[in-house]
Amino acid sequence: MSQQRILIIGGGIAGLTAAVALRRHGHQVEVLERQPEWPAVGWGLTLTGPSLRALHTIGLDEGCIEAGFPINVIHNCDVAGNVLHKVEPPSLLPGQPVSIGIGRPALSRVLSEAAAEAGAVLTLGAQVTGIEQNTDGVEVILTDGSRRAADLVVAADGVHSAIRTAIGIEDTPSFVGRAIWRITVPRPAWANQLTTFNGAQHSSGIIPLSDTGAYVFTTQPIGESDQTPDGDLAAEFRELLAPLEGEMAAIRDGIVDSDRVVRRPAYGLVVEGPWHRGRVVLIGDAAHACYPGMVSGAALAVEDAVVLAEELETGPTIEEALTRFGERRIDRARLVVDAGQRMAELEGEDRYAEEHEVQGRAFAALAADI
Ligand SMILES: Cc1cc2nc3c(=O)[nH]c(=O)nc-3n(C[C@H](O)[C@H](O)[C@H](O)COP(=O)(O)OP(=O)(O)OC[C@H]3O[C@@H](n4cnc5c(N)ncnc54)[C@H](O)[C@@H]3O)c2cc1C
Repeated sequence: MSQQRILIIGGGIAGLTAAVALRRHGHQVEVLERQPEWPAVGWGLTLTGPSLRALHTIGLDEGCIEAGFPINVIHNCDVAGNVLHKVEPPSLLPGQPVSIGIGRPALSRVLSEAAAEAGAVLTLGAQVTGIEQNTDGVEVILTDGSRRAADLVVAADGVHSAIRTAIGIEDTPSFVGRAIWRITVPRPAWANQLTTFNGAQHSSGIIPLSDTGAYVFTTQPIGESDQTPDGDLAAEFRELLAPLEGEMAAIRDGIVDSDRVVRRPAYGLVVEGPWHRGRVVLIGDAAHACYPGMVSGAALAVEDAVVLAEELETGPTIEEALTRFGERRIDRARLVVDAGQRMAELEGEDRYAEEHEVQGRAFAALAADI
């Protein structure tokens, strides 16, 4: 398809990688991000083999690998740090790490710089509040009342996507009954792989993000009405980590600043049926969100970006390209979300060996080409 005017709503992993992928195919691209700045602080995440493979296809793997820390194995331990089980996901990029840990600010910097370099316009502080479309085009409305016209809108506005609702898609995220707690810490030398510690109803762990930084997480069963954090988060985090022994005990005792603790409820979602209406298509968490235990939300987001650009290249019309895009993606998204949901259930029953088997099988399936 010839050059299209494309607006991307949301400058997260899905939106920024879509900007790069679509620019590589010659489209005119603007990203509208409601935050006034790219993140300068905050948590990190694991980019698995499928993430790195998809980043490779748009030339972003090396920048991410340089900005992150290589992870080749997951050590699942008891609370004393004895390794009970290892998950060794397949390597998907020859000569490169199996996966990496990377800080959110570092990832955002690599992706936003690449999108700008590729020629995308990146507009910060631009919140989309409405959307109107007809057969010839689509317009988005910003908070200041201004409008932007486009041939196609890519809604990459996250799990609580307002655009999903605005275009009449009724699927909503379901709460999986667990919260994830996170804080970044200085990286101890021994934390050079992803390590989890499995205790009663809590899975905790430490993930290296760089030579100097790491992040610590734990999961917690919570009720439907307990999704908004309050109280002394640092003290509560320390309490959740209380069963940990050895080297992790010292790290736990250093968690004292509640402002640096992030506690988020986890959701699951797969939009059933087409992921588009007219000229507006959902990608990333707006279309599918999974329990973080699968560490694969970013992989799905980057793959969405790559596949969308491919389908727009070959599709004879926008309608056919978007239909084909959703059809290519939904089974893979369902695989990840279902595995994540099962992991959360098994974690709640302290059935960790089975949980790790579910994760290992899903990783093996995700190694298949997209
Ligand atoms: C605790 C936790 C840990 C995780 N760990 C991992 C991991 O280790 N590995 C992994 O692969 N995945 C992980 N994930 C999942 C991963 O973070 C997500 O899948 C990924 O960030 C989704 O990216 P996105 O761009 O679709 O959405 P988001 O990152 O949510 O980005 C959406 C963007 O849209 C913007 N926006 C929203 N509405 C508007 C609007 N109206 N106008 C303009 N801008 C708007 C937002 O400001 C935001 O920047 C984790 C998730 C959680 C919650």
